[in-house]
Amino acid sequence: MATHETASDKLVYDFAEGNKDLKDLLGGKGANLAEMTNLGLPVPPGFTITTEACKAYLATGREPDGLAAQIAAHLESLEREMGRRLGDPDDPLLVSVRSGAKFSMPGMMETVLNVGLNDRSVIGLSNQAGQNDRFAWDSYRRLIQMFGKTVCDVPGEEFEHALEDAKSAKGTRNDLDLDADDLRGLVDAYKKIFAKHTGREFPQEPREQLDLAIRAVFESWNAERAILYRRQERIPADLGTAVNVVAMVFGNLGPDSGTGVAFTRDPASGAQGIYGDYLANAQGEDVVAGIRNTVPLQELERLDKKSYDELLGIMARLEGHYQDLCDIEFTIERGKLWMLQTRVGKRTAAAAFVIAGQLVDEGLIDLDEALHRVNGAQLAQLMFPRFQLDHEFQPVAKGIGASPGAASGKVVFTSARAVELAAEGESVILVRRETNPDDLNGMIAAKGILTSRGGKTSHAAVVARGMGKTCVSGADELEVDVPGRRFTVAGKTVTEGDVVSIDGTTGKVYLGEVPVMPSEVVQYFEGSLDPEHIDNPLVRAVHRIMTHADARRRLAVRTNADTGADAARARRFGAQGIGLCRTEHMFLGDRRELVERLILARTGTEREDALAALLPLQREDFIEIFREMDGLPVTVRLIDPPLHEFLPPLEQLAVNVAVAQERGEDVAKEEALLAAVRRMHEENPMLGLRGVRLGLVIPGLFAMQVRAIAEAAVAVTEAGGHACPEIMVPLVGAVQELETVRAEAEKIIAEVVGDSGVEVLIGTMIEVPRAALTAGQIAEAAEFFSFGTNDLTQMGWGFSRDDVEGAFFWRYLELGIFGISPFESIDTDGVGRLVRIAAEEGRAARPGLKLGVCGEHGGDPDSVHFFHAVGLDYVSCSPFRVPVARLEAGRAVVETAGSDSR
Ligand code: ADP
Ligand code: MG
Ligand code: MG
Repeated sequence: MATHETASDKLVYDFAEGNKDLKDLLGGKGANLAEMTNLGLPVPPGFTITTEACKAYLATGREPDGLAAQIAAHLESLEREMGRRLGDPDDPLLVSVRSGAKFSMPGMMETVLNVGLNDRSVIGLSNQAGQNDRFAWDSYRRLIQMFGKTVCDVPGEEFEHALEDAKSAKGTRNDLDLDADDLRGLVDAYKKIFAKHTGREFPQEPREQLDLAIRAVFESWNAERAILYRRQERIPADLGTAVNVVAMVFGNLGPDSGTGVAFTRDPASGAQGIYGDYLANAQGEDVVAGIRNTVPLQELERLDKKSYDELLGIMARLEGHYQDLCDIEFTIERGKLWMLQTRVGKRTAAAAFVIAGQLVDEGLIDLDEALHRVNGAQLAQLMFPRFQLDHEFQPVAKGIGASPGAASGKVVFTSARAVELAAEGESVILVRRETNPDDLNGMIAAKGILTSRGGKTSHAAVVARGMGKTCVSGADELEVDVPGRRFTVAGKTVTEGDVVSIDGTTGKVYLGEVPVMPSEVVQYFEGSLDPEHIDNPLVRAVHRIMTHADARRRLAVRTNADTGADAARARRFGAQGIGLCRTEHMFLGDRRELVERLILARTGTEREDALAALLPLQREDFIEIFREMDGLPVTVRLIDPPLHEFLPPLEQLAVNVAVAQERGEDVAKEEALLAAVRRMHEENPMLGLRGVRLGLVIPGLFAMQVRAIAEAAVAVTEAGGHACPEIMVPLVGAVQELETVRAEAEKIIAEVVGDSGVEVLIGTMIEVPRAALTAGQIAEAAEFFSFGTNDLTQMGWGFSRDDVEGAFFWRYLELGIFGISPFESIDTDGVGRLVRIAAEEGRAARPGLKLGVCGEHGGDPDSVHFFHAVGLDYVSCSPFRVPVARLEAGRAVVETAGSDSR
């Protein structure tokens, strides 16, 4: 760990010493500031303290040896370069102290601006700025506010209230109306707040300010909201943050100064153009905080044409350099443009596809790279439904479509309430004037986010896009009253609990619940949109990238489907067969009665009668599925769950019997059922009489199913179709189990199939750890394996899959025992190892053994990459996941290829 540093004792890097590939060490912000510096762009000079220094600090609770001296040396050269000293009373150098981790965590960690100001240097700053007192005192009050809040945990509201008070005393709502005297007064008020909460005066010594701010940034890595955000975004907990110390430039020097953010393309739709927000006479944090309403970046052309043109030139250059959408922060100080940040920007799922397609058109990247730049989670989002609007629904407001999707839910106004209601299973829409990092919990819990202020780059917008959550920002017709738990719009009042619908693509807000319809991407997959003849850039991009994924992937993708309708849909979505057709639903509904007869049978004849009655019904089920999957393999799993699952629950039967007895009715059947349920009761049904064990214990059960499958296949084939059944035996742990079932099945198949040409494979699920470990033996009796990774995970970990996720996984996630539930994404080290062993030993015993997976993991992106790597032939997943699996299977190929050359 960080304690035995050997590679390098260098803990501080000048911007000129870094580059964009050093994100692990310098964080994203630092690495990109270095990159821009080396491109010759106007970046204020500065240096970066490494993530290694942060990790050492967090491990030991003190700054690592040598850090103080290295900072002093870099500060000295910064002072030399700037011709000013930090906090010099006459001509002060001021710096910002900025967090910056490897992965961007918008607003999660801390930044302090204007470090180096104190009671004396504030005068010097004013003189330096041409007797601009207002500016100097504004900068000083910002320092006390940010330093107090970030470094010393002074409640931020106290400063905000003092600022509000100063504004109302002046009779204004705009902070620009406060003059130098007002701000000097505010500084006094801020200092009192600071002293009251910290028990000390605001530190006047510049280097002390700097050191404390650096330490606070280190510590912000472990702030609660940062931990929460990392968990949500699956960012590792041990990376640490770098700290950037940057010479200040001032956007608050007057009307010819200002600050802004910009994207090189629209991060919501991917459309080319200029997207950004600008705020004159302000410091950077004002834009994101939504303090004042910004103007569109295009306005800058009118305000300051020279800076605007320069900015556009730099943006084009950055896009070419990074070959991707960039987002940037800039400040203009009296007509001079400064670049303060750039990174490859976050974007919506739709924008990711559209931009990847555009970059291919522009020759900047190839199709492999385009495939690499999108992912299955994004595609899944594009398959969410959209609003189906008719005249009944008129929007009541229109804000900015900040993060697409269609969300309806009950309105809530606080993060806490959002969490509460969501826990009760309600859909909620979190409504705020603007969000801040403390709203993160509520944003995670909500289905959608609606704010009345802020643009595409506001906190709400950026975080929602990162999470793939629907967001409408800046709906300024909304009058939001958070304490009153209501908002008014178009003369109507909406209170907590009322339902609204928001469209994150159009930015429109509706009262009530708007019905939904399939998205365009789903319509395309369904085949109702022709990608070559449609003027929709998203559908075209999806089509192009999916086509490439299909061309590249080695894994086949099948679907889990139990009905003809599901099978048909999955086929349209690109499924190349069925990997899991469960037969248990075929025993439900009005067939329950037959199952009861089967269970209650007292003689062989009674049992055979019940099975004989089930046979034709099963056959019809299979005929329908084989027809839909004509020419493609269909893996049918013989009945798996314990039979008592088909009987009514014990309590209900007991009540029925009692009531019937009371009434003097005939209770013979109820009593027999009750007795059967009691007899069949198991302490651990998951480990009890189920799967292959049923087949071995209940004579004729599997035989009936095998016969139905074979007869259905023959019927379809004789009608001119082509059925390819694969019979799958569940829960096998020993080859002898499979051999017994196989011997019986083969006889029936031979008898039914005759010379019809139908071929029926017999294989097994690998879902009991013992099966994985004896796969070499089992393969002797199996023509295919299908990994049932749900049960394999359950039995591999000893986790009851119906109980554990809700019961205690939070603690396991908190402790980092795993980063994500092993039921969601396969545990490659343990359960994955079982898969690997079984695949290798199975193939060694039977070359060409067909291998697939049919657990939930078959549609999970990371798991798909793993199954590709261990050499399976196919994955199988639910119909809606089929496109996701196709895409990820393609990505798995280009990523393995890429890592050789990268
Ligand atoms: P975040 O990661 O939350 O965006 P930043 O470190 O980028 O935090 O800083 C917050 C704001 O302060 C940004 O708008 C940034 O542009 C501005 N800022 C940071 N450093 C400076 C500086 N040296 N001069 C002027 N503005 C700065
Ligand atoms: Mg920033
Ligand atoms: Mg199973």
